[in-house]
Amino acid sequence: MTRPALRPRLIGLDADDTLWHNEPLFRMTHARFDALLQPWADAATVASHLAAVERRNLSTYGYGAKGFTLSMLETALDLSHREVPGAVLHEILSAGRELMRHPMEPLPGVAEALPRLAAIAPLVLVTKGDLFHQETKLAASGLGAFFHGVEIVSEKTADTYRRVAARHGVAPEATLMAGNSVRSDILPALDAGCRAVLIPYPLVWAHEAAEVPQDHPRFSQCDSLAALADWLEALPQAGA
Ligand SMILES: [Mg+2]
Repeated sequence: MTRPALRPRLIGLDADDTLWHNEPLFRMTHARFDALLQPWADAATVASHLAAVERRNLSTYGYGAKGFTLSMLETALDLSHREVPGAVLHEILSAGRELMRHPMEPLPGVAEALPRLAAIAPLVLVTKGDLFHQETKLAASGLGAFFHGVEIVSEKTADTYRRVAARHGVAPEATLMAGNSVRSDILPALDAGCRAVLIPYPLVWAHEAAEVPQDHPRFSQCDSLAALADWLEALPQAGA
């Protein structure tokens, strides 16, 4: 693992499961959905069908809780051969609404680490998902003030990261992206020429699973945003 010799001039941060808990809420909703569909299918069948429906719907609904709710409704209709009662559909809608409204819970240490990171380089939030829901979560988190910019994108590709760096007038090589998803936060950022730091979260959505890069010169891993701040603070400033 090679670490950069200079501080970055722009820091991109992922939101879900990097700044605040997200995947456990989806898992909770998923468990409730399993129980509702028990009359028609076992948990394994529900899980595999829902995953397939979600994957198919991503290009239509994008990421986030609303698309997930629609995919749950579709799965319920499919697995019950369209015989699922209205009361169950109502329960599924309630579960989806609660997922949207669930209080935002920042990960431990994030509120303390963000001002330290913001003192190193401007912070940009780079997140997928539903625009309204992500903006609501950021506002509820009270963390918005630390961010110089917010980019809510439909997909995280190398182009996304190149665009974000260009918009802030920073070369990709001077841009660092940190997040919990190898597939979305790390691999495309490395492809774009950025540095990328994986901050693992214990749960990973199956769709986001990918191999951690081995021996990539611009890749590193940290246990937390605080550990990332510790490391970056020890580096000399770019251009200094
Ligand atoms: Mg994430």
